[in-house]
Amino acid sequence: MIMTQTRRVLIVGGGAAGMMAAISAARCGCQVDLYEKNEKLGKKLFITGKGRCNVTNACEGVEAFLPHVVSNPRFLYSAFYGFDNQAMMAFLESEGLHLKVERGLRVFPVSDKSSDVIRTLEQAMRKAGVRVHLNAPVKSLIMEEDRVCGLTLASGEAVAGDAVILAAGGLSYPSTGSDGDGYRLAKSAGHSVTSLTPSLVPMVVEEDWCRDLQGLSLRNIGFVLKRGKKKIYEGFGEMMFTHFGITGPVVLTGSTRIAPHLKKGPVSCVIDLKPALSESELDARLLRDFDKYHQRQMRNALGDLLPSSLIPVVLLLAQIDPYLPVHELDRQSRLRLLSVLKGLTMTVTALRGYNEAVITQGGVNVREIRPDTMASRKKTGLYMAGEMLDVDAETGGFNLQIAWSTAWAAGIGAARGI
Ligand SMILES: Cc1cc2nc3c(=O)[nH]c(=O)nc-3n(C[C@H](O)[C@H](O)[C@H](O)COP(=O)(O)OP(=O)(O)OC[C@H]3O[C@@H](n4cnc5c(N)ncnc54)[C@H](O)[C@@H]3O)c2cc1C
Repeated sequence: MIMTQTRRVLIVGGGAAGMMAAISAARCGCQVDLYEKNEKLGKKLFITGKGRCNVTNACEGVEAFLPHVVSNPRFLYSAFYGFDNQAMMAFLESEGLHLKVERGLRVFPVSDKSSDVIRTLEQAMRKAGVRVHLNAPVKSLIMEEDRVCGLTLASGEAVAGDAVILAAGGLSYPSTGSDGDGYRLAKSAGHSVTSLTPSLVPMVVEEDWCRDLQGLSLRNIGFVLKRGKKKIYEGFGEMMFTHFGITGPVVLTGSTRIAPHLKKGPVSCVIDLKPALSESELDARLLRDFDKYHQRQMRNALGDLLPSSLIPVVLLLAQIDPYLPVHELDRQSRLRLLSVLKGLTMTVTALRGYNEAVITQGGVNVREIRPDTMASRKKTGLYMAGEMLDVDAETGGFNLQIAWSTAWAAGIGAARGI
C-alpha cells in the first residue's frame, strides 16, 4: 500500500494492543506516536503466563478459537480473519522470536521469557519508525464536532493527529497501568461501557472448612457451578483452596461465566472428587478399602482415596464420627460419604477483585465499533483495541490473541481511514 508520510496516528497505551497497533499502522506508512503512562512498555505483558507469556493459542482456525471467547465472539470474525493466531506466530518468528507449543496448544517463547516478547515488539516498532513516548499519560481527546483530531497529555501538551487508537487496557492488575483510563476516554467520545467485572479470578467461598484446607491442591476433579438447578459451568481440572475460598485453572475458567448469576445471589460450587468413577464404582472401591482397613477408625481408613487434610472435612460433611471403627459404619453413613465424595458443595458468594483478576469482563460496547477496522461509530478518527473492548476469553493465550488481532485491525483501519 502506498501512502504519504504525513499521516499521523496517535496511540494511547503501550501494552500488547498498543504496540501491535503501532506496528501495523507504521507498516502502512503512517507516522506513529505511541504514548504510555508508565516508565516502560508492556508492564502487564511482562507478568503474563507467570513471566513466560502465553502469547497465543495454536488451535486450528477461527471455529476452534471462538468457543474459548466468552463475550461477543462473533465480533472477532473480521479481525481474526485479518490477523489470526497463525499470523501472530509467523510475525514473532519472522522477528526472530522462536516459539514452542505446550499442553492445551498454549504458545510460549522458547526462552520462556515474557521480556523477549516485549523486546521483539519494541524492535519491530523501532524498525517501523514508531516514536515511543514514555511517562506520558494521556489526559483527554481533542475533538472537533464528530471527529477526534488529537489528544492532550497530562503535562498539558496538545498533540494533533489524524487518528487516535485507544489501547489503554481494562481494570485488572491496575498496578501495571491499566486502571480504567481507556473507558473514561471512550466515554468522553460518546461511547457506552457495559457492566465491568473482574474475570479469570479466584472465588470467595462461605464455608469455614474451606479455610482449613488452605494450600491444598486437587487435581483431576469435576467442577460444576450452578444456581438452583441451572448449571452455569461444568469443567474438569485442577483447583486449590485458599484463605478466602478457591482458585486454580478450573476455578478461573468458571469465573468467566458466573458474574451475572452472582448478581442475583450466591452460586453453588459442586466438586466431584472422583470423576473417573461412577457412584457404584466408587461405592465398590469404598467397600474394598473398608474391608482392607476394617480394624481402623474412619479417620485412618480413607488415606488411599483422599489427601489427609481433606479426610476430616469429608467425614464432617458426611456426619461420620472420625473415631468410629470402620466395621461399625452403616450403609446409610457410607452412602452419605459417597455423596460428599461425588458432590463436595460450597457456596460462592463473590469474586475476588481486580488486583487478582487476569482480565476485565465488559468494556466498550462492541456495537459502537466497526468489527473490520475497530473504528468508532461515534467519532471519526477514533479506533480501539485490546482489553478495553467488551470481548474476553478463557485462559490459554486467547486474551492476548484478542489484543493482537483487534490491534492489527485498528492499525490498518486508522491508516486507511484517514
Ligand atoms: C497476571 C496476568 C497474566 C496473564 N497472562 C496471560 C497469558 O499468559 N496469555 C494471555 O493471552 N493473556 C494473559 N493475560 C491477559 C493479557 O495480559 C491481557 O489480555 C492483555 O495484556 C491486554 O492487552 P492491552 O494492550 O489491551 O492492555 P494492557 O496490556 O493492560 O496495556 C494497556 C496499557 O495502556 C497504558 N495506559 C492506560 N491508560 C493510559 C493513559 N491514560 N495514557 C497512556 N497510557 C495508558 C497502561 O499503562 C498499559 O501499559 C494475563 C493478565 C494478567 C493480569
